[in-house]
Amino acid sequence: MSKLLIKNASVIATMDDDRTELINKSIYCEDGRIIQIGVIESFNFNADVVIDATDMVVIPGLVNTHHHLFQNLTRCYPGSQNESLFGWLTNLYPIWNNILPSDIYISTLIGLSEMVISGCTTSSDHLYLFPNGSKLEDQIEAAMEVGCRFHATRGSMSIGESKGGLPPDSLTEDEDYILKDCQRVIEKFHDSSDFSMLKIALAPCSPFSVSQNLMKQTAKLGRDFSVSLHTHLAENIEDIIYTQEHFGMRPGQYIEELGWVGNDVWHAHCVKLNKEEIDLFSRTGTGIAHCPCSNMRLGSGIAPLRKWIDEGVKVGLGVDGSSSNDSGYLLSEARQAMLLQRVNFGANKFSPREALFTATRGGAEVLNRDDIGQISIGKAADFAIYDLNKIAMSGAWSDPLAALILCTPLETAYTICNGEIISQNGHLNNFDLNLFLEKHKAASKRLLGL
Ligand SMILES: [Zn+2]
Repeated sequence: MSKLLIKNASVIATMDDDRTELINKSIYCEDGRIIQIGVIESFNFNADVVIDATDMVVIPGLVNTHHHLFQNLTRCYPGSQNESLFGWLTNLYPIWNNILPSDIYISTLIGLSEMVISGCTTSSDHLYLFPNGSKLEDQIEAAMEVGCRFHATRGSMSIGESKGGLPPDSLTEDEDYILKDCQRVIEKFHDSSDFSMLKIALAPCSPFSVSQNLMKQTAKLGRDFSVSLHTHLAENIEDIIYTQEHFGMRPGQYIEELGWVGNDVWHAHCVKLNKEEIDLFSRTGTGIAHCPCSNMRLGSGIAPLRKWIDEGVKVGLGVDGSSSNDSGYLLSEARQAMLLQRVNFGANKFSPREALFTATRGGAEVLNRDDIGQISIGKAADFAIYDLNKIAMSGAWSDPLAALILCTPLETAYTICNGEIISQNGHLNNFDLNLFLEKHKAASKRLLGL
């Protein structure tokens, strides 16, 4: 494993408890951990990889808390461009029905590569459909090749149209089989140790596609094996109406009765939570994956991120699937999160630094990790390093850190995970991205019949 020196960074935003920012300092790492931070003259080091970070900003690797990687095969689909959540889904389900195991692999490889070149070093993915023999390992294999930390979730859908759910029956699975496969992938892949590169979480898709019994059984299984739980909640008004009509309750009561609150649970979206439900999240340590681009794209609403944070709710950012974003740049998501809060609450209510904190430390907290998300001695050597000598940043010398959010979001000069450079100036280090882009194009065109 590399002995890595990042020297003379213009700015290091540590995202530690004091949110310390360092000027013209260096970082030394061994065995994937941060060993020294400060002036290089004080270091005792023996580096085999040296990065000159003059005119560069170093932040902790970004943490993505919600994605559906397979959806990058159906970006911008015309039939769903101008639809809200339910119409958007029902127009895309028939296409997703033809996804093959090789499509899960290639979409994961391309989607995570896109995340990595923009600075993400840890990503979760919510894979909730397994057509044509697809398995969770199809994407785990791709994630390991990219080299980022990966939180794979074994998702599920069990209530199809014939039982009053939204998805076609053909995309649902038998509940007993789902639970057996959840246990199988936990036992096969989940690494609970510090600095883990691969964790498993369990993730029934949404109130409108699984039964309450599956939610309960999944929570029990997850807790038996100490893995986290993830689902969609309160995404828009249609979602709230469905929950009230089918279960006779609000989303907060739904998750509380099913055991879906706690430090080990994070919910995506939550745009429509009311005051009592925000309090429930705060009291129980339940996390939220905030996905502003998708919420805007689908017209779901403006999530009250400002209120959530002020009330002490754990919040990270998620790009959401690439059929409803349709980008996988987490820095862009942080920019949109800030802008959207300003639309609702005023220009002084959400700062660029708070957006960056939410995209790094916030995401780490939502994924229940204290080994990533900050640049501190003993933490993971995960960094996103941005070059200030790019046209988008030119003239931003008064505050290069804020420029990451206020200017056009950049690709990184270096993305480093577990002490290794995994991408450099938009190129993945482990493989030739262009070869896989060709395969991704072929898979996407096959699915779309083009
Ligand atoms: Zn989602």
